[in-house]
Amino acid sequence: MTDRELSELAKRRGFFFGSNGVYGGTAGFYTFGPQGAALKRNLEDAWRDRFTLRQGNSEIEAPTVMPEAVFEASGHLDGFDDMLVECATCGESHRADHLIEDATDIEEAESLPVAEVEELIREHDLACPTCGAELAGEPVEEFNLMFETTIGPGSGQSGYLRPETAQGIFVEFPRLKEYARNQLPFGVTQIGPAYRNEISPRRGIIRVREFTQAELEKFVDPERDDPPIGEVADVELTLYPVDEQQAEDGDYVDVTVGDAIEDGTVESAWVGYYLGLAKRWFRRIGVDLDRLRFRQHLPGERAHYAADCWDAEAELAGNWIEIAGFSTRSDYDLRKHEEHSGEAFTVFRQYDEPKTVERATVDPDMSVLGPEFGGDAGEVATALESLAGRDPSAFDSEEVTVEVDGEEYTVDTDVANFEVETVTEAGEHVRPHVIEPSFGVGRIVYTVLEHAYREDAVDGESRTYLALEPELAPTDVAVFPLVSNDDRLTSLSAEVSAELRAEGLSVTTDDSGSIGRRYRRQDEIGTPFCVTVDRDGIEGDGKETVTLRERDTAAQVRLPVDALAAELSALSTGGRTFVDLENAYESVETDVSRT
Ligand code: AMP
Repeated sequence: MTDRELSELAKRRGFFFGSNGVYGGTAGFYTFGPQGAALKRNLEDAWRDRFTLRQGNSEIEAPTVMPEAVFEASGHLDGFDDMLVECATCGESHRADHLIEDATDIEEAESLPVAEVEELIREHDLACPTCGAELAGEPVEEFNLMFETTIGPGSGQSGYLRPETAQGIFVEFPRLKEYARNQLPFGVTQIGPAYRNEISPRRGIIRVREFTQAELEKFVDPERDDPPIGEVADVELTLYPVDEQQAEDGDYVDVTVGDAIEDGTVESAWVGYYLGLAKRWFRRIGVDLDRLRFRQHLPGERAHYAADCWDAEAELAGNWIEIAGFSTRSDYDLRKHEEHSGEAFTVFRQYDEPKTVERATVDPDMSVLGPEFGGDAGEVATALESLAGRDPSAFDSEEVTVEVDGEEYTVDTDVANFEVETVTEAGEHVRPHVIEPSFGVGRIVYTVLEHAYREDAVDGESRTYLALEPELAPTDVAVFPLVSNDDRLTSLSAEVSAELRAEGLSVTTDDSGSIGRRYRRQDEIGTPFCVTVDRDGIEGDGKETVTLRERDTAAQVRLPVDALAAELSALSTGGRTFVDLENAYESVETDVSRT
């Protein structure tokens, strides 16, 4: 299925469409329609179930606008860039690395240095995709992807729309660790919008400027905490490691999670653990596992914070697209926020036995430092404290020198009041390491739709349908009166719908057009079951009955109305299959043309 076909189906059936169409549209912004919003919500619930609830993690909701200080500390102000080349003729901006990938065999041009990208543009005579003018010789610039805003009226404080949900978790770490009773490991999740001012948004909801992320930040003790690998050790992964990507005849490596960690293909056991969990979850939500791979980041491709990183990639219309990333962020973010905020981003780790240690301390005499260094005295004192911890021998001579903001300050050692104390300590402060599985919800919605798309024929008529997993389908069941001009049928349909809704199912009704067309409408939005109320069901002298049709096989059974709600609930939780129902009830001939 091409991107275009999917976008058309998505628009026609209310999954998603470009936003603000009445004002000409806004590139990179999409609205999820009634079907899409329901599908996305179900997908988020399935993620929450797997990565929050079943893992014993907790979920938070942080603001989407954050002050500049956060991104100064996190490195996003300096390093969250993409390569931009502007066409001198028409003024259109393009992502330079994408132009190269489109025109050559190079797969990850993002990992190349700017000068090499400029050279490749020249070498391959790349032209502007909008107007066809030559791009050779145009400078390639680093463009920061964050949307900037001001907080409050007037000049205000500078703020940014968060480019990832993660920072909303990191900045609150000192509080979140209290809720976790200072016990590592613990995990915090967040599902919410992230914003990136993409240079050239493309492929529908695949590359947009506002999208939803589902992220887990797992805080672990780097020396003590291991993942429960046993849970996923036998999960099979299709890996595409760096050396295979760089080899001439590189290939995928099919290996279990346990073996991949054992032989070092996946360096971090935590990352391996989450690859296993993710693979199972992708199967649960209906991703085609033959079109899923885990690709390791090439060294130049890693984000500024990532130590090792693997992406889950789905094959979509012939291209491999990243749908989730799994990174080891080390203690990078917590350390940076500690340095910039002055707050402690550590957890107290109790020793098995208290330890007696020698600890160097200083107590600088401020009545001397103040007059000598004025406004810098406080920082000089802090630098002396830190030096005592790092290098006590620096206090052996008569004078000691520290550096503050590139300038040297020398003080008499007695003024520092240096001492070495013997203390008994119950534990130490450790800065956790972070493992981050990060999922792009919109891209997974897209994948699930594309991988569920089917075409076949029922009773000689061709149809298209979405074989969505019932857990994800926007609508659980559709209820139709066979004809709309029979009060007995419409009123029983209304009763059946009300009863199914009371059971917690999402129900739609439809009485317009032939029954065949109504089935096809539901097939195309992936509704797993349709109930039809017909005369045969109300005219016998026994119990009222209805027919129940299963989407993928179009098979139908006739069953009593009073058994319907329980059977549908059992079908949606997996307690029953449709074959069980075919064995238990009378089968009905499929005939989509009757009205
Ligand atoms: P990243 O932080 O770049 O690893 O992104 C995490 C996830 O967010 C990716 O795996 C994608 O699924 C998703 N994502 C990143 N950028 C975009 C975008 N511009 N549009 C839609 N989804 C995105």
